[in-house]
Amino acid sequence: MVKGNWQKEISEAITSVDELLNILDLQTSIAGDQLMFAPEFKLLVPRAYVSRMQKGNPQDPLLLQVLPRVLEACNVEGFSVDPLAERAVSPVPGLLHKYYGRVLITMAASCALNCRFCFRRHFPYAQNIIDENTCMGILAYIANDKTITEVILSGGEPLLISDAKFNTFINALEKIEHVKILRIHSRMPIVVSARITEELLCSLRKSRLQIVVVVHCNHANELVSAVTESIDKLRAAKVSVLNQSVLLRGINDNADALIALSYKLFNSGILPYYLHMLDKVQGAAHFAVSDTLARRLLAEVQSKLPGYLVPQLVREVPRATSKTRL
Ligand SMILES: *Cc1c(COP(=O)(O)O)cnc(C)c1O
Ligand code: SF4
Repeated sequence: MVKGNWQKEISEAITSVDELLNILDLQTSIAGDQLMFAPEFKLLVPRAYVSRMQKGNPQDPLLLQVLPRVLEACNVEGFSVDPLAERAVSPVPGLLHKYYGRVLITMAASCALNCRFCFRRHFPYAQNIIDENTCMGILAYIANDKTITEVILSGGEPLLISDAKFNTFINALEKIEHVKILRIHSRMPIVVSARITEELLCSLRKSRLQIVVVVHCNHANELVSAVTESIDKLRAAKVSVLNQSVLLRGINDNADALIALSYKLFNSGILPYYLHMLDKVQGAAHFAVSDTLARRLLAEVQSKLPGYLVPQLVREVPRATSKTRL
């Protein structure tokens, strides 16, 4: 297989804590004993994302999203390995059917960038790898349930699959008449913009399905011109582009950061959709923001922005019939 630019960017991503600290001139400003040098959920960050971090700043909001810290080893009460009880809502391997009308497919078992606060960091992906058999099972399940009108590709990172595989999948999905919308939850347009290839755009453009891409951006500094270019291409292919963020302590837990994010998203052709409360996953407790602060921040954001730039503040509640507004 010919490797495209995006595959090269991923294979050259940084996986070493030392290398990351070196690039950012941070060897002396962060004490080594605060960091995890070989965590099980490894450090993984593409160089293009690192180039958006500020050198010499140990509190950089992009750095904090990817740098493994010893704090992750703390076991905090109420934080578990399966905070959403997802294992209970999977009728066939690789598929979650939790909400009316929508199913979510865990398309790929990994990501192009590992977020330290990831709610799926302990997800049993190995049991949910989408091979051809699993894929048939998933398509059969969807075909059998006429209430399913929207299929959501998630992961991990769904756009880690090749253009050829994506095209095969979307073609199969289009044959199921009651499916109208294909939603792709992907961090790729943000972290590896080159992933929005002409082949991918072609599959999206010619599809009878309405396509929604939900990117995942937590801070305005992530939105550089390469991102805007990839979003422009998606929008030119009639794709609706939304954003979901996670409210993260030390990263975006102030009104100015949230307001700047909304404006920058809009400027890049993206509308804010959700602002998620952190899922209580083991290893991420140090990112948690209290409900009180979250409500106060949202009220301030709401008082300063037009309604269309205010994301919905939500959390996942196991067994709830939708995401739950705060
Ligand atoms: C979040 C989620 C969805 C989508 O919910 P929306 O409110 O439509 O964005 C669907 N399925 C699962 C399992 C989810 O976690
Ligand atoms: S991109 Fe999403 S699924 Fe992947 S590590 Fe980050 S939060 Fe987790």
